[in-house]
Amino acid sequence: MKKIYILGATGSIGRQTLEVIKENNYDLVAFSAGYNLKLVEKIIIQYKPKLVSVIKYQDKCYLENKYPDIKFSCGEEGLIEVATMNGNEGILVTAVVGSIGLKPTVEAIKIGKDIALANKETLVIAGKIIMELAEKHRVSIIPVDSEHSAIFQALNGENKNQIEKIIITASGGSFRNLTREQLQNVTVEDALKHPNWNMGDKITIDSATMINKGLEVIEAHHLFKVPFEKITTVLHKESIIHSMVEYIDGGIIAHLGKTNMKIPINYALSYPNRIFSVEKFDFEKLVNLEIKPMDYQRFKLLALSFKVGKMGGIMPTVMNAANEVSVELFLKKKISFLDIEKIVFEYVEMTKNIINPTLDDIILKDKLIKEDVFLKYNK
Ligand code: MG
Repeated sequence: MKKIYILGATGSIGRQTLEVIKENNYDLVAFSAGYNLKLVEKIIIQYKPKLVSVIKYQDKCYLENKYPDIKFSCGEEGLIEVATMNGNEGILVTAVVGSIGLKPTVEAIKIGKDIALANKETLVIAGKIIMELAEKHRVSIIPVDSEHSAIFQALNGENKNQIEKIIITASGGSFRNLTREQLQNVTVEDALKHPNWNMGDKITIDSATMINKGLEVIEAHHLFKVPFEKITTVLHKESIIHSMVEYIDGGIIAHLGKTNMKIPINYALSYPNRIFSVEKFDFEKLVNLEIKPMDYQRFKLLALSFKVGKMGGIMPTVMNAANEVSVELFLKKKISFLDIEKIVFEYVEMTKNIINPTLDDIILKDKLIKEDVFLKYNK
């Protein structure tokens, strides 16, 4: 029975991973969660894990008293405990949101545990370090992000030196039909309505600003070791083509399927095998597939991501940290939608790059930028 460990089990990807675990009879050994105790208890009863970590110390104490046969942990230490439990056994699904996933992912790689990566921020801010570490410890990093799962599959058995271009598709997010003028007064509620995918709040806002696609470009650069010049994005509003790889002979391999995250999750957990799923695409219902060139003037954070990705060093950390806090402040209605973009540009423009940052440099800069954005804009 396959052993699964999850960071972020109560989030959107986490919950869908639990469904895949149940459908395939995998063994959930350990998981971490946030504040949703009700759901944590439901998961404990249904999946009988051996270790559970939550954020708050008092939640840990409450659970410890109620479930004496299970080990509980909390905070950042708890995340690392879940990530490194039982050494290199099984696979760790990193489904937490944001840079919080970095340290536990690094520790899991160091002890040789394979990673199903859904936490894209980790690769964005420390891609070089993570990929080198994974190679050193012979750890597989299998992407869960639908685009990267598609690219991963389109690269299967091919010669990487013969890639012409990686083409990442973007739906355009919840505001794809609005002009920049119309974006001035959009609300949190409007932003959270993604047209195609059912996802968590942070990534849905990131899709609306299109920085999500920017983070995915940087993620792809590290994951597939392809220069930014060979990565491009296109608008594809139906999200049926999950991404494509063009080869030097002009042939393009695309990956298509339903817009259901359980498909890439299933693939990451069963790789290199494939396991039956009921999520089948129905061509009878397919009306049209539209692909349009990306509008980099309209989606400024996507254009910035290419720039920041090419700069490398500490800059992706700066962009990501400013974005994480801005999205949080937008969700709390402290700033407007367009402020997210403004703040991210502000911090990228004011920060001096560090060319070869260490893990500590990255963790420190991430913390400093987040604190600074919060102090300045949480009013
Ligand atoms: Mg994606």
